[in-house]
Amino acid sequence: MRRILRKIYILFRKNILIFVLLAITVIALLTHQYGLNDITYLNLSNYAQIFPQTDSADGGYSTVNIQRTDSSIIMDYELKEGYAYPYAGVRILLSSDVTNGWDLSNYDSIFVWMKPRGEGAVRIYMRTYDPDFYRKGDEGSLKFNELEFFPVEESYPAVFVPQEFRVAGWWAAQNEINVHKARVDLSNVPFIEIQTGTEAPLGYGTLEIKGFCFKGKLIPKVDLVTIIVACWFISFLTLLIIRFFEFNKERTTNRQKREELEKNLKALEIEKSEFEKSSKSDPLTGCLNRAGFSSILMKEQNNLNQNGVPVSFVILDIDHFKHINDTYGHAVGDEVLVNLTKLIQNKIRNTDSLVRWGGEEFVIFCEDTKLQNANFLAEKLRIAIENTPLIMQQQVTCSFGVAEMVAGEDPKRLFERADKALYTSKESGRNRVTSAPSP
Ligand code: GH3
Ligand code: MG
Ligand code: MG
Repeated sequence: MRRILRKIYILFRKNILIFVLLAITVIALLTHQYGLNDITYLNLSNYAQIFPQTDSADGGYSTVNIQRTDSSIIMDYELKEGYAYPYAGVRILLSSDVTNGWDLSNYDSIFVWMKPRGEGAVRIYMRTYDPDFYRKGDEGSLKFNELEFFPVEESYPAVFVPQEFRVAGWWAAQNEINVHKARVDLSNVPFIEIQTGTEAPLGYGTLEIKGFCFKGKLIPKVDLVTIIVACWFISFLTLLIIRFFEFNKERTTNRQKREELEKNLKALEIEKSEFEKSSKSDPLTGCLNRAGFSSILMKEQNNLNQNGVPVSFVILDIDHFKHINDTYGHAVGDEVLVNLTKLIQNKIRNTDSLVRWGGEEFVIFCEDTKLQNANFLAEKLRIAIENTPLIMQQQVTCSFGVAEMVAGEDPKRLFERADKALYTSKESGRNRVTSAPSP
């Protein structure tokens, strides 16, 4: 149960806007349905502005007499022959200013309490001021919104909707107005007239009228629905815009994060390669150290064993280096080592690898080189070293040992052979090259 409640809660939190909008919509519609009424009563028993009206204005002879009771007015009339359409009635004045009547246009229904004491139809005129048709001082130009009905006891009070009114055709004709232009309009009603209708017979008659009730809503339903739809629309549009900006922001931050990560990765890669390089190279001379050498050895070994590509190994050692150190100092010794490295690097091929083997001892790994060529290289280097002033103070020479690797040979054995050859060079007077015989 708690889990279900929790799920509902999460759903609610995620979609809070929709729930709020739904709640507002339901509340608004219910309030409109059962409340927000706009009701206006027009009780004639105590309403002062009521005036009799007959066809005498049109040359007829009908008469009318109005009496008031506690709850209504009673209209006694006699319709007499004279005018072509004899009539009698009352005018209920809503406003003394004809241009500023009541606005009844927002009411949905009109209740009329009216009891006949005779036969015939009754006519209601809602007279409207319409600036398009009104002629100053001419009441006849106030629009006749007309409704005729037979008041009967059973349907008391009578209820009408504004749409049941019609603009009187004779009025439009008299005023030379196109009936289609003269629509029913109850927005400015200065007076209401109640008269005997077309079917009312000549003679005496009585009509009791209690009054009117106009019922409507403070906000028309169409307006309310429009407002609700607008609320939904604006909310979703706002949400959409917010989401759009959030999405954009997220995308930007994600991109920034990714770029930063990529940058870090690149830096790490550079660091890694620098580290690898430094861990495999000798800090003083910059050439490979033993760690760097082992990966090359492995590659060359494979190349020889699998493809038969020859590889030779030259080992060289500076003659009487201890003497240089002792005589001129360690710094000068270092200078010799650096300059010797530069000299050798310039003389060997790109595919050859120079390794500082330790102290003042170097090894050159010569790829795709047979013993004879390695010997040749060693001799070339020996002469170059001999003839190059590596330091100002003294000539420097080196002794060499050369060996060619044999397929399947243990590298240890190869080094021993080369080392032995070097030893021979030292023994036989230094500054020379000795090649190791094949094992
Ligand atoms: P040989 O001709 O028999 O090779 O004699 P040598 O004096 O060259 O040989 P030895 O092995 O007796 O001396 C090598 C010297 O190299 C001893 C050591 O102090 C020096 N040495 C080793 N590494 C360095 C270095 O990095 N810098 C300097 N300046 N001297 C070094
Ligand atoms: Mg040595
Ligand atoms: Mg030496």
